[in-house]
Amino acid sequence: MKKVLILSGAGLSAESGLKTFRDSGGLWENYDVNEVCSVQGFAANRAKVLKFYDKLRVELKDKVPNKAHEMIARVKEKYGDQISVMTQNVDDLLERAGCKDVVHLHGFLPQIRCENCDFIENIGYDVMGERKCKSCGSDKMRHDIVMFGEQAPFYGVLYDELYALRMSKSLFVCIGSSGEVLDVASFASFASFSILNNLEASSIDHAFSKCFIGRATAMAEKIEHEIDEFLA
Ligand code: NAD
Ligand code: ZN
Repeated sequence: MKKVLILSGAGLSAESGLKTFRDSGGLWENYDVNEVCSVQGFAANRAKVLKFYDKLRVELKDKVPNKAHEMIARVKEKYGDQISVMTQNVDDLLERAGCKDVVHLHGFLPQIRCENCDFIENIGYDVMGERKCKSCGSDKMRHDIVMFGEQAPFYGVLYDELYALRMSKSLFVCIGSSGEVLDVASFASFASFSILNNLEASSIDHAFSKCFIGRATAMAEKIEHEIDEFLA
């Protein structure tokens, strides 16, 4: 069976009004990334970090999926198990576009997690406030987002997917990722054919069979066509 892996990053949601890491120059939504996205930052100022994710979660409510989210949802619906959808994004825009079985490699903003028992609660677009764990009663609830210095629980699933790419005739599609957090350039080498879509050209382009440089919404139709051709 032919296999397609679609892996997205912050660039996929940029046109829906969510800022990427990069276009903010080390600042994410006006915060220092090292303060709000690292284990050290969380230990130093827990309240500040929780407040940061509260703000992002509340703001997510009014964001809407764009044509690229919709394209991914459409091909997933059409081809089912032949397509795996993984994202580094913590927003729910793929889900809201109707995409099924999205693996969130770096966590999911609408969820909070208990540090004591790992219980997960979906609080939608609410602030966390003084919530206690609904399972064990602990007051150690936190954002369910992987920070620098933490293990990402779904990387095992990612490695299985990369292995599957190597074992079949496969297509790797990467949309809106600089490759600075996940080494997407090396992932391309696992697939028979690979496509990269980013806003600007960069040093990782050469690792891919084909590059579509431009906005994800403008490239979505071309990418969909490539996937259709590949799986035809
Ligand atoms: P990144 O910020 O490092 O890189 C973004 C990439 O997207 C760049 O290569 C840029 O060229 C491209 N891009 C920007 N606008 C685009 C557009 N309109 N169309 C197509 N491409 C566009 O992002 P990353 O590689 O995903 O890594 C950053 C980390 O930040 C991830 O771990 C992610 O969890 C987190 N993050 C998530 C969100 C979100 O959930 N929406 C937003 C910001 C950061
Ligand atoms: Zn608990």
